[in-house]
Amino acid sequence: MPRRQQKLSNDPAELDRQYVWHPFTQMKDWLAEEPVVIVSGKGPTLTDQRGRKYLDANASIWTNLHGHNHPKINQAIQKQLSKISHSSALGLANQPAARLAAELIQIAERKINGPRQPKLKKVFFSDDGSTAMEVALKLHFEHQRRADPKTLPRFLSLENAYHGDTVGAMSLSHSPLFHRSFRKIRFPVDRVMAPYCYRCPYNRAQPERIDARSNRRCRWECVRQIESQIEKAKGQNKPYTAFVVEPLIQGAAGMIAHPKGWLAKAAKIIRKHGMQLIADEVMTGFGRAGSIIASHQEGIQPDFLALAKGLTGGYLPMAATLTTQTVFDSFLGPYDSFKTFFHGHSFTGNQLGAAAALANLKILQNPSSIRRRKRLENWFETALQRLWNLPQVGDVRQTGLVAGVELVKNWRTRQPYPLIEQAGIRVCRALAKRGVLTRPIGNVIVLMPIYTMTKKQVNDIITALAESIRETLAR
Ligand code: PMP
Repeated sequence: MPRRQQKLSNDPAELDRQYVWHPFTQMKDWLAEEPVVIVSGKGPTLTDQRGRKYLDANASIWTNLHGHNHPKINQAIQKQLSKISHSSALGLANQPAARLAAELIQIAERKINGPRQPKLKKVFFSDDGSTAMEVALKLHFEHQRRADPKTLPRFLSLENAYHGDTVGAMSLSHSPLFHRSFRKIRFPVDRVMAPYCYRCPYNRAQPERIDARSNRRCRWECVRQIESQIEKAKGQNKPYTAFVVEPLIQGAAGMIAHPKGWLAKAAKIIRKHGMQLIADEVMTGFGRAGSIIASHQEGIQPDFLALAKGLTGGYLPMAATLTTQTVFDSFLGPYDSFKTFFHGHSFTGNQLGAAAALANLKILQNPSSIRRRKRLENWFETALQRLWNLPQVGDVRQTGLVAGVELVKNWRTRQPYPLIEQAGIRVCRALAKRGVLTRPIGNVIVLMPIYTMTKKQVNDIITALAESIRETLAR
């Protein structure tokens, strides 16, 4: 006799606790608490199953742009759904993906006219930020190997960099906490100093609070370190062939906003040494860091541009890696040359994702949406200033519509809270009680307003954060 199936609970919280393993989550702590079960969203607001409402202050882990349940994105998905949801890109083309590839190239090429900048011509679709980076690194590796068979392609990336969780993307990353235990399965990638001004070993004398982001005394030692490291590797006959960077702001490293001019200076060195530039715009793209493509703010066009998160407005998992004709051409040849790029995913070029992305791009480029983002950035900047008054806040750094608020034990010495004190986690718990949802990165509170937030909503988030910090980390 077959055993009768056990009746499943109607309570999603109970099912979740019994069956789901959450990402980047200590499940022991998770199981000790009542989970917030989200049932719906509208604009910048999320609603849980108890009817409680929250402002989505990290844009659903940095993905959502124009708000939840946006009528235009919903409509685009529904329209596509009535035709077909998915057919394979292995051997077949489809209309929304083809159109999207063309629009992405148009957008990526619009502002860059310099004769010495690479021209982006081709789009390889994948599923998420990690796969977009895997594609970039594999394309670079193979292109470079074919161009110069005697040299092993080597990557250089930034201290604390985070480029995803698949093994290749993880190899490009240098997060001591996330990657420690996977050391032996990562391939070796060297790291170089990141421009983390607040903790810059060369810039200690900056006056606290008055102008923490100023680089008045900066002599660009961090940029010089890039050059000397590249030269050293060349001298040892092990030259780097690619530099990997998140333009303007490093996300998971702790929202490290780079000083103005750093990217242009770093790119100049990369070019001088004949290396390729891989821009990870998984977080920074689509207006998050200001412009649609963050690299363009410093007049930089990379050889590889990885896009994900906001590509579909944060509605569906889809990613894209843009690259040049030269890279593309190195994979061309007769069938029996086996020069094919042997890489792809089941859902590459998915129609629903592409339809959502096309709707997103339309909204994003609408002049009223551009004006709205500019206004929002100003409100955000003004509201953030209030946080400087808190003794538990060491640094407030903003790039476009992203901010990191670094909590410190002592603002005079910049002494961090030990991770075991869970300062960031506790502040975010207090924030959730005030109806604001976000997640910390260690001691850094991440804020990413949804593009349609009002001035009041932005101010409410900052007020709730200030109260949560005071309450949680009172002296
Ligand atoms: N690169 C960057 C800069 C990211 O912020 C992330 C995700 N936080 C990734 C890559 C990986 O993206 P995904 O989680 O979609 O794989």
